[in-house]
Amino acid sequence: MADQKKMVEAITSMDEDFAKWYTDVVKKAELVDYSSVRGCMILRPYGYAIWENIQKILDTRFKELGHENVAMPMFIPESLLQKEKDHVEGFAPEVAWVTYGGSEKLTERLCVRPTSETLFCEHYAHIIHSYRDLPKLYNQWCSVVRWEKTTRPFLRTMEFWWQEGHTMHETAEEAIAETEQMLNVYADFCEDSLAIPVLKGRKTEKEKFAGAEATYTIEAMMHDGKALQSGTSHYFGDGFAKAFDITFQGRDNKPAYPHQTSWGMSTRIIGAIIMTHGDDNGLVLPPAIAPIQVVIVPIAQHKPGVLDKAAELKARLKGICRVKVDDTDNSPGWKFAEYEMKGVPLRLEIGPKDMEQNQCVLVRRDNREKIIVSLDELETKIPQLLQAVHDGLYEKARQNRENRTKTATNMEELKKLAEENSGFFKAMWCGDLECEEKIKEEAGLSSRCMPFEQEKVSDVCVCCGKPAKSMVVWGKAY
Ligand SMILES: [Zn+2]
Repeated sequence: MADQKKMVEAITSMDEDFAKWYTDVVKKAELVDYSSVRGCMILRPYGYAIWENIQKILDTRFKELGHENVAMPMFIPESLLQKEKDHVEGFAPEVAWVTYGGSEKLTERLCVRPTSETLFCEHYAHIIHSYRDLPKLYNQWCSVVRWEKTTRPFLRTMEFWWQEGHTMHETAEEAIAETEQMLNVYADFCEDSLAIPVLKGRKTEKEKFAGAEATYTIEAMMHDGKALQSGTSHYFGDGFAKAFDITFQGRDNKPAYPHQTSWGMSTRIIGAIIMTHGDDNGLVLPPAIAPIQVVIVPIAQHKPGVLDKAAELKARLKGICRVKVDDTDNSPGWKFAEYEMKGVPLRLEIGPKDMEQNQCVLVRRDNREKIIVSLDELETKIPQLLQAVHDGLYEKARQNRENRTKTATNMEELKKLAEENSGFFKAMWCGDLECEEKIKEEAGLSSRCMPFEQEKVSDVCVCCGKPAKSMVVWGKAY
């Protein structure tokens, strides 16, 4: 039979093998395909549509806050990359180099941008002369390349897409305020648009960005209890400005160095969406970024009037949500499984019996609840149900994080927790790199962040017993 030509294949259960489940979902939901370039992914239309929705929301917010988009070259001359010592040391091991142009060997190697601080600095040196030129609030949407050894779609790929904001300010205070503001933009985006609760905090010296004075981060917890760094914002002080000789004439007519920030969110966040909300039937998308928010599935579509009714409902809903009718000759059962796999937040079923009663059936993707709705109320019910799906996803993720967050006061406790659980572990830290490294080695945990909201879970460092400086959240991370 024609409607049996393609069955939705089952995917690995997430409890059985979470890594395999993840790979199954990204492939079967048609988000990505692998390419012949090792570690580089192809974003397929459905995956790219999710990224476009993320871009739209973030880009609007950036612009509301006064940022402007620019486009920088993708190549960085070696001499330019070398200018800031910490930065080049941090990135050198994972840089791809261009050594030939056509058949001629280049006199200077060009690196394919792993991040663009150096290019922005070179440009800023040309255009910043006076305090009147500040602040400069630039952002670019692009892809970058990092030569990763092991890769996984979205989570770690050699080339990935992102936005990188790079700003210059007259004072340190203004730059720090920008760094905090942009971290809050990311945090609000994760919570309000992606239904992902995040932990805001500062990275330790060991984990901060190469060349930064301070790195702020938002850390999300995945379904399996592992952490995913979901967005970062860096304060550079005037270190790069000095290395690149960027000076401006201050209000007192004296030359001064500007203070700098950068901040980025990448296609990695799609990995976070998959691993926070997905289930054994596939993807579950938060409505704000779902390419299709409502899919209309006609039941007994060969009966008179059904397809017309489905088209009529689509026309009515077009202005209030992203809606699609699937009128292909696949069976309704196949369509149900297909759009569940693709994580479409709401399914609308309409058939001859529903039409007689002027109603339809709506099914939520997050909890599969079925709701019978009068067709007269569609325009009010659909936005309410999309909001309910968002709230349901957020609450489930918050509950998972709460259940998997634990506290340790000594090393034995911390090791035992890490052995028996996967999650966030709160423990005090003295601030020494040695202890941080020992925790990594013995408990297999990295410091995720020093949360802005500090708690005092004990007085002393979990590792060495010396007086503690701050509470750190430790975990295993993607
Ligand atoms: Zn210590």
